[in-house]
Amino acid sequence: MSNLIFNFKSKNIKKIKEIKNLLGGKGANLSEMGRMGLPVPPGFTISTKVCEIFYKDKKKLNKKLINQIKKELKIIEKDVSKKFGDLKNPLLLSVRSGARVSMPGMMDTILNLGLNDKTVIALANKTSNGRFAKDSYRRFIQMYGSVVMKVDSYHFEELIENYKLTKGVLLDTDLDEEDWDGLIQDFKNTIKEKTKNDFPQDVFHQLFGAITAVFLSWESNRAKVYRKLNQIPSDWGTAVNVQSMVFGNMGTDCATGVVFTRNPSDGSNNIYGEYLINAQGEDVVAGTRTPQYITKIAKKKSNTKEDSMEESMPKVYLELMSILKRLEKHYRDMQDVEFTVENKKLWILQTRSGKRTSKSAVKIAVDMVEEKLISKNEAVLRINPNSLDTLLHPTLDDKSTIEVIANGLPASPGAASGKVVFTSEEAERLNNMMQDTILVRIETSPEDIQGMHAAKGILTARGGMTSHAAVVARGMGRPCVSGTSEIDINYEKKVFKSSTAEVKEGDIITIDGSTGRIILGQVPTVKPEISGDFSKLMKWADKVRKLKVRTNSETPMDTKTAREFGAEGIGLCRTEHMFFDEGRILSVREMILSKTKEDREKALAKLLPHQKKDFIKIFKIMHGLPVTVRLLDPPLHEFLPKSEKEISEVATIVGADIREVKSRIEELHEQNPMLGHRGCRLGISFPEIYKMQCRAIFEALSELKKNKHKFAFPEIMIPLVSTEAEIKIMKDLVINTAKKVQEENKTKIEFLVGTMIELPRAAIKAKDIAKHAEFFSFGTNDLTQTTFGISRDDSGKFLNDYIDNKIFNIDPFVSIDDGVQDLVEMAVLKGKKQNKRIKLGICGEHGGDPESINFCSKVGLDYVSCSPYRVPIARLAAAQAEINKKK
Ligand code: PEP
Ligand code: MG
Repeated sequence: MSNLIFNFKSKNIKKIKEIKNLLGGKGANLSEMGRMGLPVPPGFTISTKVCEIFYKDKKKLNKKLINQIKKELKIIEKDVSKKFGDLKNPLLLSVRSGARVSMPGMMDTILNLGLNDKTVIALANKTSNGRFAKDSYRRFIQMYGSVVMKVDSYHFEELIENYKLTKGVLLDTDLDEEDWDGLIQDFKNTIKEKTKNDFPQDVFHQLFGAITAVFLSWESNRAKVYRKLNQIPSDWGTAVNVQSMVFGNMGTDCATGVVFTRNPSDGSNNIYGEYLINAQGEDVVAGTRTPQYITKIAKKKSNTKEDSMEESMPKVYLELMSILKRLEKHYRDMQDVEFTVENKKLWILQTRSGKRTSKSAVKIAVDMVEEKLISKNEAVLRINPNSLDTLLHPTLDDKSTIEVIANGLPASPGAASGKVVFTSEEAERLNNMMQDTILVRIETSPEDIQGMHAAKGILTARGGMTSHAAVVARGMGRPCVSGTSEIDINYEKKVFKSSTAEVKEGDIITIDGSTGRIILGQVPTVKPEISGDFSKLMKWADKVRKLKVRTNSETPMDTKTAREFGAEGIGLCRTEHMFFDEGRILSVREMILSKTKEDREKALAKLLPHQKKDFIKIFKIMHGLPVTVRLLDPPLHEFLPKSEKEISEVATIVGADIREVKSRIEELHEQNPMLGHRGCRLGISFPEIYKMQCRAIFEALSELKKNKHKFAFPEIMIPLVSTEAEIKIMKDLVINTAKKVQEENKTKIEFLVGTMIELPRAAIKAKDIAKHAEFFSFGTNDLTQTTFGISRDDSGKFLNDYIDNKIFNIDPFVSIDDGVQDLVEMAVLKGKKQNKRIKLGICGEHGGDPESINFCSKVGLDYVSCSPYRVPIARLAAAQAEINKKK
């Protein structure tokens, strides 16, 4: 057991390699700070290994562990010259969770542990501050009562509110020692009434109860949801940090606060933080009191009157600044630091890498390279590729006329519009109906996490930039405006009011998390500009990566966007998407419903000029780069007319009567269209379709060449191949059509013919298929579907159950499954064996997923292809994959 509990000053810790895994983030950093000689209250960490043992031991703390904890307590007692449970000079403890990665607000914490009816008197005498002692005791009963004894915390809140009403005061600070005495008794009675148990007076009973509760909180619902959203494995477990208490609520020379070494919202190299005089930590994060600023500049900017810490505690402020500098230098990253001042003495309670917005993450990484704190490769590794998503999305169009109804704090950037909802449940309900919402709360708590995720944006009336709402929203990439004290929310009536408007549930508002504005109605947005730090970082990424990044696109607009985002070609141009246009769908229907080849060719002839025109545009935009055009793939039923109106339109065009058209539709019906008449099977049955498409491609290229335009390099791709014969027949068709068009136009055009590998048989028989394919593009959407036999359209209905039951860690249609990886790897090896120069890429959705990109890099693909907005994400992920290979 001795190596499962670690004192913050333990020398053994240095020898541990995976220190964060064992001690959790908080524990590892506390011990590191302890060894750096920073003022950390003494304590110890019960490791994550113990959490594992706890769950194996049927959720009990075993004897050995209990003895070890008692031994560690003795060390703290000696250090601070206080004794746990002592009636003269009692030691009080904080018990906090600390997982490998920070999970803000998700897990339990208990403060002021060790107080009971007797020690509270000792504390009052020792500090000559009866009010403080009683206030601490009631806080402890409240926390212990809700966290350990599971009494809903609102019972305690209600008691306080009623008490204040009766006394005719507004603030907690207006209650005196006797008031707290009364409330302490009321709290204890409530606990007895709700749990049939007394509030425990035995301090060891309190301690082991608290440790047990922290371990149990790892499996709480909110922690599970957070893990799922952030892909945190459930077997990591949490550590528990037991630490001697320091007090920020002992008087006006005491304070508590949270400070970031740089601004987490915009990344600027300025201290950013908040503090409260005469308060405990939870008062800052809970958002129940609006905190004051740390620096004079921040205070001035926000136009507030209350003194900044720089003014009210200048000496402690300077000490804090110097510690912050040391911490940032030591960790070589922006830090989020919690501190407490107890009678003018500064204590550091925690440091961790600060959560930040995507924009500031990029700025901080680039600045740190320029400050020579980190290398370019480290900067590239610092950014979570998926987080770029928020940078690439639109912001409010400031040219439009807007009606600002209130202003709050710009807590998490980005703009969002949606229907106002006042509960998380309603946000989730509307999200399931594909409706956008803005979750409006007085303040948020961890119970709101699902609703915050379901909503497009979050608006709170209370709480600062480090409140629960702000921290969680930033982590999720949701826009958030917090601390909007100008609004008055009435949950019962489902309405909020500002000085100029009354907004009801269901009304649409827009929030701008970058400026803090609340706007009535929906506001148009504009595309973001990609420049400055972002471009610098992307350049560094491009320099190291080997994988090329292409895009999946079939419209000129998407192709242009992708090009601006750095796409190096098109990896998948789904030609069937070019048919959905209103003006063309009729000809497509005519083609499908044709009974004879002649009729079909007539309809195809109408489609040819449209396809050609589209190809000309796309080939021009992607000039000098490869464009993979995939021949028609979808099941034909997708194009069939459905409504009576559509059916009668087609009947008129093909000159048939409605009954005839309906019976042809019947004929074409398939039980299992995804496994039906699609892909190259269409090309085998109706070669004239593919011939028309090839003609359109080569006529487009000939015309561009003739007019001396620059154009793309064409790669013609055959879909859904599973046999050598299929690809051979199709390749011949492409080559013959190309030849014919080139002869007609007296021109020569280079091109490749290849295939998608999207069926297990194709992967298994890749060597034979490679005889006729100059490239393979892995269609991992279909390959996942057919490997598992799980429908890509219907799996949403049960995939959650699979994730809940730990059968899948993640949706295999999002991140490539390792069984599907084996098939890809097999096909790569076999394909290369047959044709050393075969080009290899991926164009399934996985081409834009960082984890899958890492696999693609390892397995030796030449490129990945993804949707335009994911191109920068893929560029960054490809660079990270390359850097990690060398590690
Ligand atoms: C695939 O199957 O992975 C693919 C890219 O093709 P589609 O999604 O069009 O079936
Ligand atoms: Mg496919």
